[in-house]
Amino acid sequence: MSTPTTAEVGQRSKEPAVVEIDGFRGRLISADHADYDIARAVWNGAIDRRPHLIARCIGTADVVAAVRFARDHNLEIAIRGGGHNVAGTAICDDGVVVDLSAMRAVRVDPADRRAWVQGGALWGDVDHETQAHGLATTGGIVSHTGVAGLTLGGGVGWLMRKHGLTVDNLLAVDVVTADGELLRASEDAHPDLFWALRGGGGDFGVVTSFEFRLHSVGPTVLAGPILWDATDAAEVLRFYRDFVRDAPDELGTVVRFGAAPPLSVIPEELHWRPVVMIGTCYAGPIEDGEQVLRPLRASRTSLVDLVGPTPYVGFQSALDSTVVHGWNYYWKSTHLPELRDDLIDVIADHAFSCSSPRSYAAMFHLKGAVSRVAEGGTAFGNRRASHAITLDAVWRPCEDFDEWDTAWTALRRFREGVYVNFLGGDEDPDRVREAYGDSVYDRLVGVKTTYDPDNVFHHNQNIRPGTGTRISGASRARPR
Ligand SMILES: Cc1cc2nc3c(=O)[nH]c(=O)nc-3n(C[C@H](O)[C@H](O)[C@H](O)COP(=O)(O)OP(=O)(O)OC[C@H]3O[C@@H](n4cnc5c(N)ncnc54)[C@H](O)[C@@H]3O)c2cc1C
Repeated sequence: MSTPTTAEVGQRSKEPAVVEIDGFRGRLISADHADYDIARAVWNGAIDRRPHLIARCIGTADVVAAVRFARDHNLEIAIRGGGHNVAGTAICDDGVVVDLSAMRAVRVDPADRRAWVQGGALWGDVDHETQAHGLATTGGIVSHTGVAGLTLGGGVGWLMRKHGLTVDNLLAVDVVTADGELLRASEDAHPDLFWALRGGGGDFGVVTSFEFRLHSVGPTVLAGPILWDATDAAEVLRFYRDFVRDAPDELGTVVRFGAAPPLSVIPEELHWRPVVMIGTCYAGPIEDGEQVLRPLRASRTSLVDLVGPTPYVGFQSALDSTVVHGWNYYWKSTHLPELRDDLIDVIADHAFSCSSPRSYAAMFHLKGAVSRVAEGGTAFGNRRASHAITLDAVWRPCEDFDEWDTAWTALRRFREGVYVNFLGGDEDPDRVREAYGDSVYDRLVGVKTTYDPDNVFHHNQNIRPGTGTRISGASRARPR
């Protein structure tokens, strides 16, 4: 097989769908299949792409077969884990989707505190299995988010300040490379590849299995949101800034700006009222959490305080119904420094500027264990940032596009990097470099050049291979 260039892949991918793949045991779904429209839908309803073929794998051998098939036919490849990325990169036009959504098994070894998770699992699958033993690892704050995409980009969540990012808890992966070879990558095996997979995204291969370190968490934790009126935003944020500066690592917080969602736990009279909602989760003894959270809860009269002992596994899915599959989403995101007064004023002035009541902004507090790993220790960039904010425009299929333009412009002067998993589909390519910083990005280019020199995996926030700067001493498993 002559190796296709990226351009050739795009050009030649107009071939008709082929509905058989040698050695493939999963389901092959092409345009004439009754399930095609369901199978090509991703979380973001604004994404409407039509692949030639969706190869729904049921095991690693299927992934190998699908990758080799796509390469042999010079077809574009998209990789689908949970199908949750806002940019919709899990699906492509033309080409083959290597779809892992049927590979959701999770195995836990409670004694050794490890979990093995297949590449199509969702965070709800992991939390369900690990919490049966009072264990957890850092995952996303919405349980229908995919493990694979989230982990490969870094992984931020309630537990990160205590236990590190998801990638900081990753011990090993099984990965199918662009050559269709299965490798195990860890600190000891292909360490350069393992480094890149811990933040570099889906650029280096299809991960079929993740091995995670687990920690004792809950199963009941002190958690929940406190809501204040939107007009109090600046004052609440000033208090919050000082409060989180000295907060222990056990405390994870996310600030949400927008209309109060109609969740059953929120009193009905507050539904759709513009509020600042500080979500909290204390990953330690409940009594300690009560003490730590006391100043925040007493800081200013709130509309409602819903903090209390709650099952961690339930808390992890508390926001699921606020970000429904099939609605339309458009995100802008950036890391932010510590909340200076001028930044707080900008946030308070603009955080409620979207017209749709479903739109919101969410700001994660980073620091803690995230910032104690050396910059460049894994491929996750900007570890010293204080906060990551996403401005999430949400509109239903029957509604007009919502927008965050003025808020985004106002935040420009405070921008300090970005989390790659919060990037949208129409970003300037420079933003991928911004997600890593120059030295991490340049090292990623070296690994990409070694493991995927033809940029087979480019349907992502792409790190383009260079023209010869391969990692010395590393080689792909079997050059073709
Ligand atoms: C509502 C919502 C909440 C979120 N909350 C959080 C959060 O709390 N914390 C956080 O860190 N992020 C969060 N995210 C961002 C999330 O990390 C990304 O959307 C991530 O890409 C989702 O993973 P997925 O497997 O569902 O991705 P998919 O959409 O399936 O895939 C996205 C990309 O990931 C890569 N990929 C996916 N699976 C594989 C695989 N098996 N092997 C190799 N590459 C693969 C591919 O490049 C693919 O294009 C959230 C996103 C949404 C929409």
